[in-house]
Amino acid sequence: MSNSARLGWGLIGASDIARTRMVEAIRGQPNSDVVAVMSSQIARARGYAAETNIPQAYDSLDAILSDPAIDVVYISTTNELHAQQTLAAARAGKHVLCEKPLALSLDDAREMVATCQAAGIVMGTNHHLRNAATHRTLRRLIAEGAIGTPLAARVFHAVYLPPRLQGWRLSKPESGAGVILDITVHDADTLRFVLDDEVAEVTALAAQQGLGTSGVEDAVMGVMRFHGGVLAQFHDAFTIRHALTGLEVHGTDGSLIGEHVMTQEPENGRVFLRRNGTVEEVNVGERENLYVRAVRLFNRAVRGQGQPSATGEDGIRSLAIGLAVQESVRSGQRVYVQDA
Ligand code: NDP
Repeated sequence: MSNSARLGWGLIGASDIARTRMVEAIRGQPNSDVVAVMSSQIARARGYAAETNIPQAYDSLDAILSDPAIDVVYISTTNELHAQQTLAAARAGKHVLCEKPLALSLDDAREMVATCQAAGIVMGTNHHLRNAATHRTLRRLIAEGAIGTPLAARVFHAVYLPPRLQGWRLSKPESGAGVILDITVHDADTLRFVLDDEVAEVTALAAQQGLGTSGVEDAVMGVMRFHGGVLAQFHDAFTIRHALTGLEVHGTDGSLIGEHVMTQEPENGRVFLRRNGTVEEVNVGERENLYVRAVRLFNRAVRGQGQPSATGEDGIRSLAIGLAVQESVRSGQRVYVQDA
């Protein structure tokens, strides 16, 4: 596909994240546009299309996947639908940017990635945080040896779930509800990216602190052990109103402090390097919108240049870690993370 050819994106799922972030990100690229949206209800599809100026509205997967104007689909339905929709899109020859978690089981996620690969289409996972200038700076500094050998990491990703999102996430286990599949998978991806290492095992405890129902956890704390030896603690919640987020990595020769870096806003977050009794703020460079960068790299990959910022394999790995955390919470045991 040539660089000048326009990429038509179709939205599978009339979702909040598409409305608040992705439509603008897709339109922010010179050669891509949103050409259609699909909802399970035609009235919702039409209303959403009218509000967001999307030309075409559909209420079936077959219809949107048969539209020749669509090259790429962005899947942001509830989590239990991602697998079947990705498989159908791959079979229709559409490239797929899928939301996290990719699926509710590793077998489904592996099948999604294998089917996309066999179909020769690009597949990505929408882990936005690794697009942040802050996290890319943390990764670079660690790779350059700025803190020596990393020994420990801490992730603070406990937030208050905005009221408009207090729906299926809190009450529908069958849709993959809960803070682990919503937020811990992002921590997992970001830590893998920053440390350039894989998680070997996890242990965790979860709680219901007033928002989750039907056994759905709204808070979790735990520890991941990476193959290289790093121990990473994480705290994820929908229930914490007043805390800042953060990611820290502590090494033999220094510490990196990412203050308020687990957010969707590119302007948030500062990075500090502490060593030998001094602390300096690190310049993280240009702060591109996280979702714009994800779309930019995805479009490039469709044109044969490079890879999406987070691939399908990355989505399998973050899901494997999320499922291991869920299993640890259920069993009270440490759980080894399955291979991709
Ligand atoms: P929403 O709840 O906004 O949308 C999910 C689905 O719920 C939609 O596909 C829609 O079904 C249905 N729905 C939405 N609003 C209504 C309504 N008013 N009445 C009836 N049905 C409705 O989900 P989110 O945008 O919060 O999340 C979607 C996906 O994106 C999830 O997989 C989530 O994990 C992921 N996500 C990722 C983020 C990231 O930064 N990477 C951030 C937020 C979410 P239909 O399409 O059939 O109309």
